[in-house]
Amino acid sequence: MPTQLHAICSDITKLHVGAIVNAANSSLLGGGGVDGAIHRAAGPELVHECRLLGGCKTGHAKVTKAYRLSADYIIHTVGPVWQGGKSGEPALLADCYRRCIALAEERSVVSIAFPSISTGIYGYAIDLAARIAVSTVQESLSEHSTIAEVIFCCFSPEDLLQYEQVLKNPPLPPIDI
Ligand code: ADP
Repeated sequence: MPTQLHAICSDITKLHVGAIVNAANSSLLGGGGVDGAIHRAAGPELVHECRLLGGCKTGHAKVTKAYRLSADYIIHTVGPVWQGGKSGEPALLADCYRRCIALAEERSVVSIAFPSISTGIYGYAIDLAARIAVSTVQESLSEHSTIAEVIFCCFSPEDLLQYEQVLKNPPLPPIDI
């Protein structure tokens, strides 16, 4: 069965999925936005586990348990701060999605929900970020992926529209000559 990709508008902490992705900062010790919401909902044990991880570089990802959330895992990834687009932001954002998919597959995760990484406090434009999110996930899923469902969890109807547009018009595959 091919993996289903879809977008919804929701608070990611409420989802019943195998893994929830957190758009964290490099300290992994909690912050604003979705990071703060995930730490509040998961409870204080999450930050205790995160302290043992020694932070996380931009474009990388690390896994913890999900504590009070109904998910099995939280995959914490650090998106790039938008600096105008010429500082490697697209590649770093793609790295986040690629590494989260790889970690989820290693743990035989069946369903995974992503927030729109970097598009809040980190200032990445939603239309550009949505294209990278969808195309990188499509490219990263292994041939017999354990992941049956990928949810792009948007936090506003405007963001949802952007993801729906990209999902309806996926990037064309390269042409064979
Ligand atoms: P970043 O620092 O990577 O930009 P933010 O948390 O500021 O991270 O924003 C990333 C995205 O997560 C934004 O689109 C923001 O609207 C969204 N967001 C914030 N809270 C939640 C939540 N509870 N559930 C899902 N998405 C959320």
